[in-house]
Amino acid sequence: MNDCIFCKIINGEIPSIKVYEDDDVLAFLDISQATPGHTLLVPKKHVPDIFAYDADLANKVLTKIPLIARALQAAFPTMTGLNICNNNGAVAYQSVFHSHIHFIPRYSDQDDFSIHFGDHTEQYNTEKLEAIAAQISAQLEDD
Ligand code: AMP
Ligand code: ZN
Repeated sequence: MNDCIFCKIINGEIPSIKVYEDDDVLAFLDISQATPGHTLLVPKKHVPDIFAYDADLANKVLTKIPLIARALQAAFPTMTGLNICNNNGAVAYQSVFHSHIHFIPRYSDQDDFSIHFGDHTEQYNTEKLEAIAAQISAQLEDD
């Protein structure tokens, strides 16, 4: 993709601070370090989001997640946690439409990063949850 900033990084057309590279993926520092060590893992193949992964690409990219995670853990002894995030779609905070996985090392609850899950437990009962699960499962039957 000509106008894709991450393709340009992969092709060396614009600079990045590289952490790891192999035939299939590149990992580099996020330009806006949410916390020190904030790293992005991207497939070298341009795919916009997780919905575009086939099994082969998933195997090439997603299996590298623990590798990067352990490297961060070893590199930063004061790191006490790690958030791994993958945003898909603008409403889900995706701003670069070349699929990428964020690794955000956590050092304390004062880090400039948070995830908020609203608690809607009281709005659901088993019947409602089973109906939702069936809706999803029906799409997985052929996989
Ligand atoms: P998202 O909002 O999930 O799409 O994340 C995109 C991320 O890409 C943001 O955290 C940006 O800081 C980061 N980013 C954008 N441009 C660059 C760049 N040239 N080099 C490194 N990271 C970048
Ligand atoms: Zn791209």
